[in-house]
Amino acid sequence: MKQIEIVVQNRTGLHARPAKVLVNLAKKFKSDIHIQYNNKRVNAKSMVSVLTLGAACGSEITLQVDGADEETALAELESAIRAGLGDDISQAEPKPVPIKVEAPVESPKVDEIFEPGVIKGVGAAPGIAVGPIFHFKQTVFDLEKLNKLPTENQIGLDEALNCAKVELAELYQQMTEKKLGAEAAIFEAHSELLDDTELTDVIRARISAGEIPAKAWKATIDERAASIAALDDPLLAARADDLRDVGKRVLRLMLGLTEKGATPETPVVIVARELSPSDTASFDPEHVLGFGIVEGGPTSHIAILARALGLPAIVGVDESMLALEEQTPVILNGNDGTLTVNPAADVLERARQSQRRWLEYRRFAQEQASQPAISQDGQRVDVTANAGSVADAAEALHMGADGIGLLRTEFLFLERTTAPTEDEQFAVYNAIAETMRTLPVIVRTLDIGGDKPLPYIHLKPELNPFLGERGIRLCLNRPELFREQLRAILRAAPSGNLKIMFPMVSDIAELRQSRVLIEELCRELNVQPVQIGIMVEVPSAALMAEIFAPEIDFFSIGTNDLTQYTLAIDRGNSTLASKHDGLHPSVLRLIAHTIESAHKFGKRADICGELGSDSAAVPILLGLGMDELSVSIPSVPTVKAQVRSLTIADWQPLAKQALDCSTAQEVRDLVKKHIG
Ligand code: PEP
Ligand code: MG
Repeated sequence: MKQIEIVVQNRTGLHARPAKVLVNLAKKFKSDIHIQYNNKRVNAKSMVSVLTLGAACGSEITLQVDGADEETALAELESAIRAGLGDDISQAEPKPVPIKVEAPVESPKVDEIFEPGVIKGVGAAPGIAVGPIFHFKQTVFDLEKLNKLPTENQIGLDEALNCAKVELAELYQQMTEKKLGAEAAIFEAHSELLDDTELTDVIRARISAGEIPAKAWKATIDERAASIAALDDPLLAARADDLRDVGKRVLRLMLGLTEKGATPETPVVIVARELSPSDTASFDPEHVLGFGIVEGGPTSHIAILARALGLPAIVGVDESMLALEEQTPVILNGNDGTLTVNPAADVLERARQSQRRWLEYRRFAQEQASQPAISQDGQRVDVTANAGSVADAAEALHMGADGIGLLRTEFLFLERTTAPTEDEQFAVYNAIAETMRTLPVIVRTLDIGGDKPLPYIHLKPELNPFLGERGIRLCLNRPELFREQLRAILRAAPSGNLKIMFPMVSDIAELRQSRVLIEELCRELNVQPVQIGIMVEVPSAALMAEIFAPEIDFFSIGTNDLTQYTLAIDRGNSTLASKHDGLHPSVLRLIAHTIESAHKFGKRADICGELGSDSAAVPILLGLGMDELSVSIPSVPTVKAQVRSLTIADWQPLAKQALDCSTAQEVRDLVKKHIG
């Protein structure tokens, strides 16, 4: 056996990202590999165990390797740990002390303010649901009653693990078929957790020592999840939730219980504090009218899932919703984020009519999806899709998209230990170009950094990563990475109609430097130049649009970030979610200035942020002169249908009026007044 002491230099210790890199590397070797720290010795091939070590920055760990390939294993692991396991440790600093947040004041009781009345949340998926509420409660398994359960239904650990894997594989398949890639990835990660032999060995040992299998399983999962959660690292909290979620699945199977127990049997509006991916997947879609969720913002997984399923959802809902009686009749409005409790008969009737109209509208929109979106006054507006894979491109075509207005190339770079090669990238861009044929595809170069780190790109620790080395800044600082991606795109361009777009541009020098590189690569590859555009998502780019316009072919306004940077509101903050509104007049003024500058130089202005599929925003954006709306794939048909219903000339003065409003709410009221 060989061993070595190493000091962990990662600023946030062995948290999820470096731990994953370490575990994957350890798994490549035959030798037994353990890490010892503070009287704890864990298997380095087990993600769950490495996470529970809690080795912070400055901790001295002992790496012990025993087996045929121990020399190479020790050398490779040592150098990987010393290099930071994917984190940049060149400026390692002590972990900042977490800021303690005061407990919020107790939320008011329902009948004190809302009886009958309206509970506020944030609209996360459009549509209206009318029906009784159903409180979804996470199943709590009372193991004390275990002895009373019929033992013939209970199964052993191995059988339960196998069944869980089959269920997870089915869920993965279903989610992939529904084009829910992010959901599919969650179930894949759950399945990986079940492969952690270190975890299962501990449970087996407890069972051999006489513990009831289900109790041994639950106790071990609870202990591990609690120690991961206790490490006080938000990155790890998600891992702890995943472990609890998959732990419950196995426990339910061991106890011979069915998934249906706590799910509704008739159509209801599901309300809950939070919903795990497994909870959501367990519902029969026929019985779900909509979702009202206390936790999470408009980008949470439930919001994305609801949009993909075409169900209305509101998130960030006031806690008072949870105190409502079961079966209370409600109207859930995913457009304005409200939940109307015990509505009067006439209000209910109007909502039912709206709901019927919405469903008819959606069906009609889908039937017409392949037709162009031409407004009442004869203006054609391209409605394109935001995509992230070859499968998305095919789905976008199926939903009638006029092209891809934003191809997020990050998908190719995430969840890997090395960057994709130029050829790997070429294969994907080429497949997308061929799928879309003559339709335009705007390929956005790598938008990494901020909240999207990569283990193989060493980033300096940043206190404000959203204001740090992100998007184009990162690519320009890593010319090799940038060149490879640009070469792959340029090589694929002749197979279709590809254009290149740079994210997070804040200064004209970034555009000029990137353009020079593209021109050089076009000569090197002997290919025709392609159109070049920038994302307008930093206020400086919007304010300087007149300077940028002569040097670009198109602008694409990224309102998710533009709103974040203009209002100084983190786009992922659920407490402030209702204030992160792209219809705020300050954001609209930047949008208006960008469009005006583009048109002055005969260039196009598009939008690819979420605002482009907000039905209250569409008439204002078109009134301001937006040329193209790039929206999430499921929204393409309804956005096209809305464009067809509008007379854009009528909205031009209203859009100007919106610029003079004082608040986002005033803009929304203005639209409501004219749209009905
Ligand atoms: C945006 O910021 O609006 C945008 C479309 O980019 P992303 O959401 O990928 O940051
Ligand atoms: Mg962005």
